[in-house]
Amino acid sequence: MKAIVDQTKCGGCALCESTAPDVFEVGPEGYAIVKLDPIPPGLEADVKQAVEDCPDGAIRVI
Ligand code: SF4
Repeated sequence: MKAIVDQTKCGGCALCESTAPDVFEVGPEGYAIVKLDPIPPGLEADVKQAVEDCPDGAIRVI
């Protein structure tokens, strides 16, 4: 699994960072960046939760 954040949609709320701190981090530019590629199997559930919870629909997985 690979996680992608659409920087043009991300509002920088940091919810994804709270849900999966090993994967997402809101950087100095104010949008989330993905720190792990690929996503380790043990973190996939957290990433899927982050996709569901993102208020801006900015995260997708492939
Ligand atoms: S939850 Fe969505 S809007 Fe909030 S920081 Fe993460 S990617 Fe951006």
